[in-house]
Order: sequence, then C-alpha cells, then structure tokens
Amino acid sequence: MELVFIGTGGGRVNLIKQFRGTGGFRINGSLTFHIDPGPGALVHSVKLGQDTTKIDVLVVSHYHIDHCSDSAVLCEAMTNYGFKKQGILIGSKNSIEGDEKGDKALSAYHLGLPAKRITALPGKTIEEEYKGVKFKMEFFQMKHDEKTSFGFKLHMDGKVIGYISDTEYFEGLGKNFAGCDVLVVNNLKPMHDGIPDHLASEDTIKILKAAKPKLCVLNHLGMKFFRVPAEVDAQRISEESGVKTIAPKDGMIISVDEGKVNERKGKKDAELKNLSDFYE
Ligand SMILES: [Zn+2]
Ligand SMILES: [Zn+2]
Repeated sequence: MELVFIGTGGGRVNLIKQFRGTGGFRINGSLTFHIDPGPGALVHSVKLGQDTTKIDVLVVSHYHIDHCSDSAVLCEAMTNYGFKKQGILIGSKNSIEGDEKGDKALSAYHLGLPAKRITALPGKTIEEEYKGVKFKMEFFQMKHDEKTSFGFKLHMDGKVIGYISDTEYFEGLGKNFAGCDVLVVNNLKPMHDGIPDHLASEDTIKILKAAKPKLCVLNHLGMKFFRVPAEVDAQRISEESGVKTIAPKDGMIISVDEGKVNERKGKKDAELKNLSDFYE
C-alpha cells in the first residue's frame, strides 16, 4: 500500500496561487482511494502518472472548494468516463445531500454516476466489499465551519490509515485516531494566529501523544509554512510528540509495508520542478 500526495497545500493563498497544490491524496492499495480532490487533483494526478480511471472510492470530507472542486471530474474518471456505473462516492452530509440552501459538492448528474453513494455520518462505521476487497471505515466528527465534515480511519489490507481533515482542536480528537499505521493530519499552520477552524502544530503534537500512530504525515500546509519550513517544523513535532512526522512535498509517495514506512519521491519530479524550486 502507498499514499500519494497529489497536493499538500491548504489555505486561501495556496488554493489560488498553487505554491503547494490542493489535489488531496491517494491511497493505492487493493482498492484505490482519492481523498479530498481540490483544484489540481485531476491535472497533477495525470502528471504524476496516477491513473484517475483506477479510482474505486472517492472521498469528500467536506464541501469547501479546496476539498471538492475536482470531485466531479474524478467521478467521471472513476466511472469509466461516465459510461459505467461503478465506484463508491463517500461524502459529508452537506457534500452529498446538500446544506440548508441546497448547496452540495457535486451536481445531481455527477452524484448519479457512481454505483454507490455513502453519506459519512460521524460516529458510524461502514463495512463494504467492492471488487472482492473488504474494507472498513470509521467516521469521526471534526469541528469545522462545514458542520458535517468528517475524518476517518480506513482499515484495508491489514493496515489502518487515519485522516484528520479540517478541524479545530478539541478534547478527545487524538484518542479517536488511536491504532493508525499512518495518520494524515491537516495541519494548516505552525502556530495559532487567532483564526479558528484549523489545526496548528501544537495541536498536532497533542493529537499524536494520544493517537500514537507509527507515522504522521502533515497535509493541507498553509503559507506560514514557507516562513517556518514545514520540514523543520515536522522535525520539531517528531521530537515533541515522539511520533515520526513527515511534511511531504507535492508528488511524494509514502510506502506502507510490513509495519514500516519507506519514503520515496514522486515518479516524475522533473514535472514538478517549478513547485520544488519554490522550496529551495
Ligand atoms: Zn475546510
Ligand atoms: Zn481546507
């Protein structure tokens, strides 16, 4: 199993300027998951050699644009260009059923393409079998201004992958994510700046002390991680939490094998040159 970070950026500036991309990440195992396909998910998947027509499960944690803008095109990819009713779409209640104004992440047409739609209700667990592969997903409450947003623990291929999406810190958040091989945390900033709704590194340290995953991967990194380099802050988080923590660059692939994690870079680094130059 491997995790592929299509886009590691977060926040309003990255969303528009794309210093770090916002395409979400993939879990390539017996089934292929694409999580939170924001702007660039399609284009950067293609550039990284990640076949979007191989997606089996598309996950939208909430309907903010940086998490869902490419979900419609990836729905078309997942369903063989829209011609075959297949694949599973898992989304927050607002993403799939709509909010009080009727806004959703996807149009009625795209919502109708996959073979199955699942509304992820925090506190619930689903067990599915698709293409002969069994997987289980536990959904957890986030505290975000999209009230129905969720995080999850995915159990597949004998591994547990956790994802803490956009949220503020709250008591008990870390405990819910105990037992993960890899925990992906949307850690927008190195320190708090008075704007709520997202995690800072000090929150992630508290989460990791409670959750104790084998590896933490920071995601949804905002512009403040250019002043405080994300790799440096990841090292600090590792030291203070006792959990090995990585801040990936766009395109990084993390292999999860036999309980140990190997890092290697994305397949086509040359194509990301303009982005990686920004980090030097
Ligand atoms: Zn959000
Ligand atoms: Zn976001």
